Amino acid sequence: MPRTSDVVVIGGGIVGLALADAWLERQPGSSVLLLEKEPALAAHASGRNSGVLHAGFYYAPDSLKARLTRRGNQLLRAFCAERGVPVRQTGKVVVAQSPEELPALHELLRRGQANGVPLELVDEAGLHDLEPLARTVEQALWSPSTAVASPSAVVEALAQRVRDRGGEVALGTAAVSAGPGWVITDRLGTVSAGHVINAAGLYADTVAHWFGVGTEYRMLPFKGLYWYGSWEPGRLQRHVYPVPDPRNPFLGVHLTVTVDGRVKIGPTAIPALWREDYGGLGGFDAGETWQVARTFPRFLRSAHHDVPGLIRTELPKYARRHLVRQAAGLVPSVRAEDFRIKGRPGVRAQLLHLPTRRLEMDFVVRPGERSTHVINAVSPAWTSALAVAEYVMREYGLASSSDEAGPVGG
Ligand SMILES: Cc1cc2nc3c(=O)[nH]c(=O)nc-3n(C[C@H](O)[C@H](O)[C@H](O)COP(=O)(O)OP(=O)(O)OC[C@H]3O[C@@H](n4cnc5c(N)ncnc54)[C@H](O)[C@@H]3O)c2cc1C
Repeated sequence: MPRTSDVVVIGGGIVGLALADAWLERQPGSSVLLLEKEPALAAHASGRNSGVLHAGFYYAPDSLKARLTRRGNQLLRAFCAERGVPVRQTGKVVVAQSPEELPALHELLRRGQANGVPLELVDEAGLHDLEPLARTVEQALWSPSTAVASPSAVVEALAQRVRDRGGEVALGTAAVSAGPGWVITDRLGTVSAGHVINAAGLYADTVAHWFGVGTEYRMLPFKGLYWYGSWEPGRLQRHVYPVPDPRNPFLGVHLTVTVDGRVKIGPTAIPALWREDYGGLGGFDAGETWQVARTFPRFLRSAHHDVPGLIRTELPKYARRHLVRQAAGLVPSVRAEDFRIKGRPGVRAQLLHLPTRRLEMDFVVRPGERSTHVINAVSPAWTSALAVAEYVMREYGLASSSDEAGPVGG
């Protein structure tokens, strides 16, 4: 007899856990089985990111990211308070490196205001009061609701809440195939499922394709490298970010403060050669490298992005000294000799829309037969995950009640 479950969630990153949690909150007593192929949680993006609770001001007001990041920030803070996960209230400054960047800085302010995010334009003296180590040209943007937490501590705590609500988190268990109403796993055999939720991160396109969903998309992985500083904890108090290039989906090299007050520089956005390409040959898969090699040229000829410019700016960042020089444009006291400790790299699961050759900038959720697919959980989905889950439950009719409009403390 195959095992049966009301819901099977494929993927135990923050998005899969948030969806399992939201289902159980709305349908207490139902059976939820979450499959995670790794023997431990937080092995991929959800444990390998900057841990920044974004405020939600970068995104076009009509996007899902705009709607779900501000809400996700509030929900994640409330969750951390409930579960005793430390959050460091750093805030964040976005600094201009030339007068030419000021219009883009003002556009961020306009977007933030449209998205209902608290933001303030400050002059050089105001920036000095907020973060004495940062430098800007004329003006900077101050975001008080940006913060930081340990990404893996949040994932572990959310997995615990799923278990507390009666869900089963099956570690070391991969879905090897699936379709409407069934999932074949490597460890538990076939599981018969009322509904399948795909939250497989770097493999979300593969899983969706099993259901005939999202076949116009291919995953293009981008690697993010970090370097930690040897500065004493607390020397830098705020996250310091550059003004991003609006043609590309990444925020540029920045300095973040960790929850324990250390400083790190990164991440890069270097094309990865396979999905879990964290360095060395770990996770190497020749088929995936071949697929990336076939997909990348389509991106290269995209009219929507400055791809040659992206390659010119990103590839040199493999060199630590170059990366640190970029960061010194934001915080002049940064020195290469102080940033020698390599951080755990992460890989961004970024979808390319094949017909338009456009990188998908927004979250993408698609319904399938007896299934729901979160196929572009790009940054800042770690911040937004609880709001993404709330949205998916309501929008796709997966649960009977939702309180999305209600206020959340914090
Ligand atoms: C370098 C970097 C920095 C970032 N910084 C931030 C930040 O500061 N703030 C922020 O909000 N966001 C940030 N992000 C984005 C954020 O990390 C992701 O958006 C988020 O973690 C996505 O979560 P996920 O659950 O979709 O993916 P994942 O964490 O990758 O989880 C997917 C899981 O599915 C599992 N899986 C895959 N296939 C199968 C299968 N067949 N069977 C079973 N399990 C499977 C994988 O093992 C994995 O654990 C960053 C991302 C990167 C890479």
